[in-house]
Amino acid sequence: MCVFCKIVNGEIPAKVVYEDDKVMAFHDINPQAPVHILVIPKEHIPTVNDLEEKHKELIGHIFMVIKEIAKEMGIAESGYRVLVNCNRDGGQEIYHLHFHLLGGAPLGPMVCR
Ligand code: AMP
Ligand code: ZN
Repeated sequence: MCVFCKIVNGEIPAKVVYEDDKVMAFHDINPQAPVHILVIPKEHIPTVNDLEEKHKELIGHIFMVIKEIAKEMGIAESGYRVLVNCNRDGGQEIYHLHFHLLGGAPLGPMVCR
């Protein structure tokens, strides 16, 4: 079972900021910004490449959750970045779909190479 599935089923602890029947959000263990939250579907979807028609509502819901968390974290007005890495060139490390919500300071250029 993957690390994020273990967080979903409670085997690994996480600092959870939001949870419902389909989605979970928790603080990244190695934050890259003052606010760094990961928003994940509870369903194990490995990458963006694995999304199907049936996931359309779920992905829309995830963005509504991101919007609410940004507001709660106080970064809605100052701004933030939502980021999804896919596969090797995207730098994906955990193969369970997740949306990074980053903010709390100017984030610099969109892509560092
Ligand atoms: P990615 O490179 O997009 O796959 O990002 C994976 C992210 O998961 C990294 O930012 C890690 O710091 C984070 N991460 C890994 N393990 C955990 C964990 N147990 N709890 C919270 N965040 C984690
Ligand atoms: Zn998983």
